Amino acid sequence: MSILVMKFGGTSVADLDKIKNAATKVKREVDRGHKVIVIVSAMSGKTNELVGWVNQTSPLYDAREYDAVVSSGENVTAGLMALTLQEMEVPARSWQGWQVPLKTNSAHAAARIEEIPRENLDAKFDEGMQVAVIAGFQGLSPEGRITTLGRGGSDTTAVAFAAAFDAMRCDIYTDVDGVYTTDPRIEDKACKLEKIAYEEMLELASLGAKVLQTRSVELAMRFKVPLRVLSSFEENNENSGTLVCDEEEIMESNVVSGVAYSRDEAKMTLISVADRPGIAAAIFGPLSEAGVNVDMIVQNISEDGRTDMTFSCPTDQVMRAERAIKEAKELGEINFQELVADTDVAKVSVVGIGMRSHAGVAAQMFQALRDEGINIRVITTSEIKISVLIERKYMELAVQALHDAFELDKAA
Ligand code: ASP
Ligand code: MG
Repeated sequence: MSILVMKFGGTSVADLDKIKNAATKVKREVDRGHKVIVIVSAMSGKTNELVGWVNQTSPLYDAREYDAVVSSGENVTAGLMALTLQEMEVPARSWQGWQVPLKTNSAHAAARIEEIPRENLDAKFDEGMQVAVIAGFQGLSPEGRITTLGRGGSDTTAVAFAAAFDAMRCDIYTDVDGVYTTDPRIEDKACKLEKIAYEEMLELASLGAKVLQTRSVELAMRFKVPLRVLSSFEENNENSGTLVCDEEEIMESNVVSGVAYSRDEAKMTLISVADRPGIAAAIFGPLSEAGVNVDMIVQNISEDGRTDMTFSCPTDQVMRAERAIKEAKELGEINFQELVADTDVAKVSVVGIGMRSHAGVAAQMFQALRDEGINIRVITTSEIKISVLIERKYMELAVQALHDAFELDKAA
């Protein structure tokens, strides 16, 4: 029995016509001989509305009740999808997370999946059910409460089912037709990639290419689930969309596969901190306790026992970061001359697994930025990524220049 997982995001189930359109795609796969596990999101906008209602009712809400409310959007679409399939004479039924049961830990609003037992679904498949429609994003805690997996979590539900049921593939239907070399709204020469490696997708996803929830890509990589991102609003064929897969399946990897950006970065510098053992821990400990997502970190070389420490974080966390650092200073844990926040920067990164075996990518990137007269404020690198912080007003220009420099218009 070959199982296919098909996930439909919010825009793909936004109204009854769209649900019918999605159901037609499911029926086509059933007619091809697959058993299908369908994962649905809530109708687009629904989850935001539910979150709003919770906040209005109780600003310091009980997270268990938040999950009870916010998970409900998916219940509606799961039932409607099952009904639509039944109307098409496809034997289908819906399952809420707790019915499967999709077992999670107790971290409400950000729960992690622990187990998906197969028995209940398998028994129904054996009885002739062709399609199991699963409400995405939700699960059951050890205490028997409803949990949710964090915003965008239906992607993770889909990949987890694909792994648990040894699915041949997990197809993620969305409102874009694949993963692009960069954001087509910024660079109209952006091309759709036919294939991309898990690791590259992870870098692009966490850099703000919002096609897939990052955790879903981590999970797909761990269990080697082939993921395909494709459009609900097109006629699809065998090769539609972008396949996210193991790098071994990509014959000739690109040196650079994509250019990602993140507009809302801030750069913070502690000027003249003592250069002594424990100083980084003394700075970043309080930041982490304050829930600041620190991204890049650069420590300057020191002079006379003093150094500058620079880091980046999302713009909307600057105040929190400032408070944490000032408190640490008042407690005497750190000592610096000045804290400078620069909220006028953006991050641009090039990503590609080919970088591992190619020299000169950084030089090429910096030359392309120089040719546009763009000043680089901070640089960080990893094995498959080079990121720079630049002045925000040059972000689009930088993305375009790098897309050109690495000839990504000829990618795919
Ligand atoms: N409906 C949830 C959200 O909007 C989960 C999802 O769609 O993936 O975050
Ligand atoms: Mg999504």
